[in-house]
Amino acid sequence: MPHSPGLTLSTAKRLISRWSLPQQRRLLAWLRAELDAADAAIEENWSPPAAKAAVEQQRRGKSVFLRQGVKCGKAGCKCADDNLHGPYWHEYWREGRKVRKKYHGVEIRT
Ligand SMILES: [Zn+2]
Repeated sequence: MPHSPGLTLSTAKRLISRWSLPQQRRLLAWLRAELDAADAAIEENWSPPAAKAAVEQQRRGKSVFLRQGVKCGKAGCKCADDNLHGPYWHEYWREGRKVRKKYHGVEIRT
């Protein structure tokens, strides 16, 4: 954790503990807003695991769209030799820690 020169956490705590409760509540509200903004920034910058192999990538809102080749899994198919089907668009988004995925096809369907 980076710390600012001149004001240590323990000094800040000592100073803030002398503040009035309304002042401390305003500080808490400000800090929560700062942390929410930081969390939102992290949320917007995540990448699905397959992102590097994708042909193309787009971000829309909280979703990441990847245009990527697909393996069908059928024995003896051309895709078994990395001659992939597609590429097709897939949408990825997060629900908590889970990454969800939805097939879109040749075009992104919104
Ligand atoms: Zn195949």
